[in-house]
Amino acid sequence: MASEISTEDEIVSGTVSVLLPLALPRPYDYKVPAGVQVRPGSYVIVPLGPQEVIGVVWGEGTGEVGHNRLRPVTEVLDVPPMPEVLRRFVDWVAGYTVSPPGSVLRLAIRAPGALEPPRMRTAYRLGAARPSRMTPARARAVEVAEDGFARTVRELAEEAGVSDGVVRGLVDAGALLPVDLPTEAPFPAPLPDMPGVALSPEQAEAAGLLRGHVEARRFAAVLLDGVTGSGKTEVYFEAVAAALSQGKQVLILLPEIALTSQFLDRFERRFGCRPAEWHSDLSTRERRRVWRGVAEGHVPVVVGARSALFLPFPELGLIVVDEEHDAAFKQEDGVPYHARDMAVVRASLGQFPIVLSSATPSLETAVNAEQGRYARVRLEARHGVAELPDVTAIDMRADPPERGRWLSPVLVREIHKALEAGEQSMLFLNRRGYAPLTLCRTCGHRIECPQCSAWLVEHRFRRELVCHHCGYSAPVPKACPSCGAEDALVACGPGVERIAEEVAELFPQARAAIVSSDNLRGPAAHEAVFAAIEAREVDIVIGTQIVAKGHHFPWLTLVGVVDADLGLENGDLRAGERTFQLLQQVAGRAGRAERPGRVFLQSFMPEHGVMRALVSGRRDEFLAREAAARERVGLPPFGRLVGVVVSAPDAALAQKVAREMSRRVPRTEDVSVLGPAPAPLALLRGRTRLRFLVKAGRSVNIQSFVRAWLEDMKIPNAVRVSVDVDPYSFM
Ligand SMILES: [Zn+2]
Ligand SMILES: [Zn+2]
Repeated sequence: MASEISTEDEIVSGTVSVLLPLALPRPYDYKVPAGVQVRPGSYVIVPLGPQEVIGVVWGEGTGEVGHNRLRPVTEVLDVPPMPEVLRRFVDWVAGYTVSPPGSVLRLAIRAPGALEPPRMRTAYRLGAARPSRMTPARARAVEVAEDGFARTVRELAEEAGVSDGVVRGLVDAGALLPVDLPTEAPFPAPLPDMPGVALSPEQAEAAGLLRGHVEARRFAAVLLDGVTGSGKTEVYFEAVAAALSQGKQVLILLPEIALTSQFLDRFERRFGCRPAEWHSDLSTRERRRVWRGVAEGHVPVVVGARSALFLPFPELGLIVVDEEHDAAFKQEDGVPYHARDMAVVRASLGQFPIVLSSATPSLETAVNAEQGRYARVRLEARHGVAELPDVTAIDMRADPPERGRWLSPVLVREIHKALEAGEQSMLFLNRRGYAPLTLCRTCGHRIECPQCSAWLVEHRFRRELVCHHCGYSAPVPKACPSCGAEDALVACGPGVERIAEEVAELFPQARAAIVSSDNLRGPAAHEAVFAAIEAREVDIVIGTQIVAKGHHFPWLTLVGVVDADLGLENGDLRAGERTFQLLQQVAGRAGRAERPGRVFLQSFMPEHGVMRALVSGRRDEFLAREAAARERVGLPPFGRLVGVVVSAPDAALAQKVAREMSRRVPRTEDVSVLGPAPAPLALLRGRTRLRFLVKAGRSVNIQSFVRAWLEDMKIPNAVRVSVDVDPYSFM
């Protein structure tokens, strides 16, 4: 395990333990050369074998290796030391996720170049001396520089409307004096006291409660529970303002696709400037700038995707997790962690409040609020005059579409009505591409990915078959790859591209747009299509889950869910909950302004609890039923789960290791280990996968069970054993 973390920010001498961002079991000891100042949290360069690696001083040396055999620290980097609370957080996450602490550390220092000293640029300020020879051009430059600000040669030349040569002449004459400025532009400061939008009495009361938690300056987890359009964002902005007034830093976590310019604009309207952003589309240079600005305390607010949780905030005083129920907060690769749950831990370690905001809270959070571990602040009304949309289920058995079509006559009629009224419609189908399966009519062959146990999805615009698990793609074959029959391949089932085709046939006069990650590459393309929808240049939107998040389209009054049963097909424990959340969110897109919205769910099982809850709008009843069902069988949040996947390129080897693991399961009464069984995705990227599921009661330390189980296993190099505590994916 990691050594004790030193809490005092005092200089450590002699030996230090240094945690390296590598999958190693613990920090290593290094010698501190005489005259070198090292503190707990210092970023250092140390030798490791023939290499030099950046690490973080975790504390005093452990003394396990004799001082004379230790290698010295090579260099101490000029960066503020990693805050003690972040070091404790790294250790905590490592312990919880059963990961090496160095792998978690890597999440905290992966901003390339951020640890190098900031580059400087030379700017010039007017000195006391004036050149002996004054020309009209020189006089103009001097006049501009008289305000005392430092400018680069180019900036001054441009502002004065003179050539660079004129400015350089003034430098040579000693009239302009050089100063070094950091190359990075400073971050603007959000203004907590700007007048925000007017809050309704209900919103003002909720905002007051959140402010109270921030002003108490201690840990509290608060669920901000309000329907779509109730103004949750404006309400938690008041908590952000309260934290800023205390001089604290604030982190707002959002699912990556909800981090839109619409959101940033709302922030700017409240605080007068945009916040710093942290997400995967950021350039290396921006990443470095934000990381460094956070570490130095110059960045007051970061709005970011889940990895922003590991930024080195020295003065964090509030975290907001918006759309807290969103599955995008769960990281599946590398160190699997749930950013919402870890954010609660980060707030608890830092002793400040956290706000979890949602219109459709996760069952975990709802149960925590129900049992009093979390406070709950409710917002019932939609802000302004917007009414909640009217939800109807279309029974696809009673009102089936025509043969070869996917839209029921009921839905088609409603779209006609919306078109005639000059209003917008949205058809939602959470399936990319044209068709999810290509089948041979002659022999029944289904075209699968050669590397995964999954069907290839036809993408007609790209004329390709694509694997959505590994990215494999191939042209659509002319003949069946199995029996060779020509023109026998048929597309089965719809994706958004196929719905768009049907829309074009049914409503030739309507302007339609597909909103899916395949059709929109990069944030600029997203912004463009959303702007077009807002400007009413689109009549019918056909979209995947990208359209479900946070966008406000005042003219959108009709939502049709093409296949409401889709999410219920995969039988994992959250299938019902997730389908409810997604469809509720999609439904919330309809009728957000003065015009009331209507939502139609196409379903083959309108009597299913999820459909009934959506139609009746009785969310809490649905959550209570789901909770009771899980409690009966001891599933999360009433019990604990860990997924363990064994994978190898060689099926026999994977099976051999899994059998050996099975033999070594520690015997205990409070933990049961199911498996090994072939994973639902039994083949992924060419690797055979076998799954164990570890199940235990809520009070059991399931991590120490897993550690004890796997500790002495000899795992061959070709085999990977991945541990996923609180799994969300059961594939
Ligand atoms: Zn065939
Ligand atoms: Zn594949």
